[in-house]
Amino acid sequence: MASKCAEGRIMNRRIARDSFFDGLLKIGVRFSISMVTLTEKEADAIFDMIDINKSSDIDIIEWSQFLTPQLELTKLFQASPKGSSRKAVISVLNDRELEQMDNMRKRLHTLAKRAMEQNVRLMVDAEQTYFQPAISRLTLDMQRLYNKEKPIILNTYQCYLKDSYNCVETDMELARRERFKFGAKVVRGAYMEQERARAQEMNYEDPIHPDYEVTCENYDRVVNLILNEVKRSGANLVVASHNEESVRNTLQRMKELSILHGEGTVYFAQLLGMCDQVSFMLGRHGCNVYKYVPYGSVSDVLPYLSRRAAENRGLLDGVFKERSLLWSELKRRFREG
Ligand SMILES: Cc1cc2nc3c(=O)[nH]c(=O)nc-3n(C[C@H](O)[C@H](O)[C@H](O)COP(=O)(O)OP(=O)(O)OC[C@H]3O[C@@H](n4cnc5c(N)ncnc54)[C@H](O)[C@@H]3O)c2cc1C
Repeated sequence: MASKCAEGRIMNRRIARDSFFDGLLKIGVRFSISMVTLTEKEADAIFDMIDINKSSDIDIIEWSQFLTPQLELTKLFQASPKGSSRKAVISVLNDRELEQMDNMRKRLHTLAKRAMEQNVRLMVDAEQTYFQPAISRLTLDMQRLYNKEKPIILNTYQCYLKDSYNCVETDMELARRERFKFGAKVVRGAYMEQERARAQEMNYEDPIHPDYEVTCENYDRVVNLILNEVKRSGANLVVASHNEESVRNTLQRMKELSILHGEGTVYFAQLLGMCDQVSFMLGRHGCNVYKYVPYGSVSDVLPYLSRRAAENRGLLDGVFKERSLLWSELKRRFREG
């Protein structure tokens, strides 16, 4: 049911052939006139190439699959071969940048293959919105290859972003269509100040939810959405949060859906040394828990840790709570010898 609704919403976001041509005209592509950049036949060929399921319109998933950085220089020009002016219309990366991207992709594959051999998951972190589309693209490409049997590669979704729910829905639908397993790590998001400052400075809409409460509501919605997919198809979810309410809500929803604690589909994650009381409590109840360990020289990891400390709203409450729990435990042990 949930999956049908999601598909319905995605199906609503589609464009027909005429609108596609109108769009090309709007961005300055001209058909069959003196400063030709694309003939109608060529535009038709491009439309057919994007319309993978041959439904005579393009939906959001077909469109995002089409937008690979290499496409402009390879596939597209197979459909529309001549004239250097054509490159200027579509190309995004230059040759050097494409080479760098290729190298990055090779390194990622080395890591992914190793993860697969070792039967461990590889979680790809999310960064600022102005890098994220590239990261998500590369991660999806890896999921297509390595998540055929089970979710090895997990993408990260930041619930402070207004479009995070839609992104999860779209990626989940893509996984269903292309028959690979969906895997997600869900966080609130770490770059709120930077995102807001940049949006203000460059005068575009703030991509972040207006306040903490809306972010929390969205966090729960996203977790619920993915839990349904866990139940439906064996997707994997990592609830990466120090927020006890988010953890409680997840456990409650798992109970309602009869998802077992240790069945290897839902995981929790906290940073080492932070909110250990939550990790231990989860462990005691048979849940799978990751502790993130920052690895590297002090100068490498200190900025990371100080950022985490600044972002964690409830961190100090957590420290006080943790200290009082430790005292109680010490007293108990002392009393009981
Ligand atoms: C294991 C692990 C992995 C992580 N990986 C990533 C990652 O890949 N990418 C990444 O970006 N972050 C990552 N984080 C950090 C994460 O996004 C949060 O910054 C951090 O965990 C604090 O959120 P919380 O849910 O733990 O706690 P809380 O204290 O409940 O939430 C604090 C968070 O709420 C949000 N928030 C606070 N005030 C507002 C406001 N006014 N409006 C809107 N939202 C607000 C912010 O996201 C803030 O970080 C990771 C965290 C953990 C534990």
